[in-house]
Amino acid sequence: MRYAEVSVNSPIAQRNTFSYTIPSGLSIEVGQAVWVPFGDKTLQGIVLELTDYPAVEETREIADIIEPRPVLSPPQISLARWISEHYLSPLFDAVALMLPPGFERKVVTFIYSPIPPHEQDTSSLTREQRHVLESVWQQGKVKLRELEKVLGARQARLITAQLIGQGLLAKSYELERVKVKPKRVPYLRLVVKAGEARQEAAKLRQKGAIKQAALIDFLAGQAEPVSWAEARKRVDCDKAVADALVSKGLIEFQQIEVKREPISYQGIAPSAPPKLTAAQKSALKAIRSSLLQEATGQAPPAIFLLHGVTGSGKTELYLQALAETVKLGKRGIVLVPEIALTPQTIERFASRLPHKVAVIHSKLSLGEQFDEWQRIRNGEVDVVIGPRSAVFAPQPELGLIVIDEEHEWTYKQQDKSPRYHTRDVAIKLAKLTGAVVVLGSATPDVETFYHAQRGDYRLLQFPERVVPKEGSPLPQVEVIDLRDELKAGNVSIFSRSLSQATDKAVDNKEQVILFLNRRGGATFIQCRNCGFVLRCRRCEVPLTCHFAEDVLLCHQCNYKMPVPQTCPQCSSQRIKFLGIGTEKLEKEAGHTFPRARLLRWDSDVTRGRYSHQEILNKFRAHNADILIGTQMVAKGLDLPLVTLVGVISADTSLNFPDFRAGERTFQLLSQVLGRAGRGGPKGQVIIQTYSPGHYAIRMAAEHDYASFYEKEIDYRRQLHNPPFSRLARLVYSHTNDARCQREAERMKRLLRGEIEAKGIDELSIIGPAPAFIHRLRGRFRWQLILRGAEPSAFLSQIPIPRGWTVDIDPVGLV
Ligand code: ADP
Ligand code: ZN
Ligand code: ZN
Repeated sequence: MRYAEVSVNSPIAQRNTFSYTIPSGLSIEVGQAVWVPFGDKTLQGIVLELTDYPAVEETREIADIIEPRPVLSPPQISLARWISEHYLSPLFDAVALMLPPGFERKVVTFIYSPIPPHEQDTSSLTREQRHVLESVWQQGKVKLRELEKVLGARQARLITAQLIGQGLLAKSYELERVKVKPKRVPYLRLVVKAGEARQEAAKLRQKGAIKQAALIDFLAGQAEPVSWAEARKRVDCDKAVADALVSKGLIEFQQIEVKREPISYQGIAPSAPPKLTAAQKSALKAIRSSLLQEATGQAPPAIFLLHGVTGSGKTELYLQALAETVKLGKRGIVLVPEIALTPQTIERFASRLPHKVAVIHSKLSLGEQFDEWQRIRNGEVDVVIGPRSAVFAPQPELGLIVIDEEHEWTYKQQDKSPRYHTRDVAIKLAKLTGAVVVLGSATPDVETFYHAQRGDYRLLQFPERVVPKEGSPLPQVEVIDLRDELKAGNVSIFSRSLSQATDKAVDNKEQVILFLNRRGGATFIQCRNCGFVLRCRRCEVPLTCHFAEDVLLCHQCNYKMPVPQTCPQCSSQRIKFLGIGTEKLEKEAGHTFPRARLLRWDSDVTRGRYSHQEILNKFRAHNADILIGTQMVAKGLDLPLVTLVGVISADTSLNFPDFRAGERTFQLLSQVLGRAGRGGPKGQVIIQTYSPGHYAIRMAAEHDYASFYEKEIDYRRQLHNPPFSRLARLVYSHTNDARCQREAERMKRLLRGEIEAKGIDELSIIGPAPAFIHRLRGRFRWQLILRGAEPSAFLSQIPIPRGWTVDIDPVGLV
């Protein structure tokens, strides 16, 4: 093979690879990182393929190998190609997901003098030119960036270009220094034999050098070198003491490479697996037989959906399935939502698989991430745990991928390219490696459950908690119709039921959570009298209120109407009710429950590495009676003193302008329900709403996923929404709003033309309309939605103009 197809780290490269000649003398392998010339630069690239023939006539040579050992495995290369094709992202963006942390380096440009000073004719040079030339002579070579600092960027470039033109200077390129290096720490080692060391120690002691004697005695008693940090602690001495012994030739310092291990195993005792319940046993049996078939290559990869309520023993099943995987000589990846990556979760895995677990986490330092990556690639860990990016960990012999809380939206990367969904990536990776996938959730994504119903995935169900508390294992749920409150003369945001129950719980020294779903703020207007919400007549989604212009707007089709003065349903004037935020809720709670100690938990309060944990610890230690919070409080927390959870308004998420609002509400309420009564039989949940009859609320209150699913999948079918279609969301952004709109309309015409030319009439275009977040960091945004069988395949054949971002299979349309 004489040619290599390389994915190059340049925005121009888009979804393409480039052909390069392999120079003789370089041994190039698939997956290797290389330096390649690209335009007038030298850039990083990854070799994706070796071929006998180049794709173009003229090829340039690969400049050099960055690291001999391949950084990407063959399945990872296929995965990167798939991500780039399916999500329409630049190929290198997809490749970069799998590179070692800190890998992407810049090229540094140097200026040097190719001929010796005495052979140069400088008589015709200006003063400034001569000045630059002399400073290059003096230093041998100079970074262009340094010259720019001294002379200003334009001047430096101009003068160097002139001198290069005259052949007096030349450019060369080097790589920026690697930012992360293996960590080395100093160790102490005896240079002499232990017996001799002890004699020396005795002599030193006689001379009064007590510390030196103590240190050498200590080292004489150790079988292996000891870290300097450890030794100085044990002997209580400073560096001068060690230096004195070094100069006497008795000991020496050694730099030893250590791994930065982010899990502290101190205080984590190894734990043994419990005896499985019947449901767990049969699930494990099914997974084990799939793993075995995988190992012998007998069956296509299996995807399991494990549907089980909170506390039904899903995590225990993951642990034992991982143990089986390891027994077969394979390894696993466990994906959890970022918020669930708590010390408790890590501890649970680490205690079952001591020193065999790696954690990947955005809060780790680059050095820690780098070390974890190396450990994983070297096959040193059985299980990698992390949020979505952990699916790209270089885990060799992959046998099992677990996705816990598979319905979580954080599994979709939304804010930057590639806009991939972790579940789809994991399933693709499993197909490429032969691994088994286990998706777990108490409230599976409707699309996932649909696949399980169709038999694409295998359904495993855990209907009951492992340790049912005496009495009812699930909390009592009361749904309050807020329309009745106003009729009864209660204008407070707390219903009579909720305030009584809160008072009672606080008096009993129990704890309360008041939950407010405030995703993106409440933006619909609702009649406080009858609960009516204005919806778009065409799209069915709630209209968004823009008070500044006094209009209601549909963010899917751009339908507009003035904000009405009275309710179209009941003629009440209390129509402009926008809901409240956590701060206001805290204030109101302060008035209504003056004796209770309040604690607020939302993203405004929590910034930094530990503050979530700090708030949680404070609440767990019973330093507050009422916790007020948003989505975060709904996630898997174990708070035994909480007996009451109040949902201030279920309508906020229900009326979000997105077809997944019902599903989202069901998921959130189900999670909230799981919070109450973990400590005993007294758990109670009160849900306040203007839509007590809505199926998402009713079924959540009844803990009835199956009925919810039936209703929801029916609506999806009727409205031709996923899983009965796929979506693509196209967003254009520009500082000029009118231009945004024009461009969106132009794009729509272009797409329509293509659809007609190709005769794909099942593909529909929704919009254009201003995006829900119309203005972001000073830029306006307009969007189009494409709905059909394969919008990604259709779009891949159309050059997408600059300024557009494309989100394939978006999790939200706003
Ligand atoms: P989930 O992940 O579904 O919320 P867990 O696996 O965390 O459920 O189990 C809930 C609780 O029950 C945990 O405290 C766990 O240690 C315990 N548990 C799980 N399986 C068993 C079992 N087979 N025997 C005893 N306790 C178990
Ligand atoms: Zn009304
Ligand atoms: Zn509309």
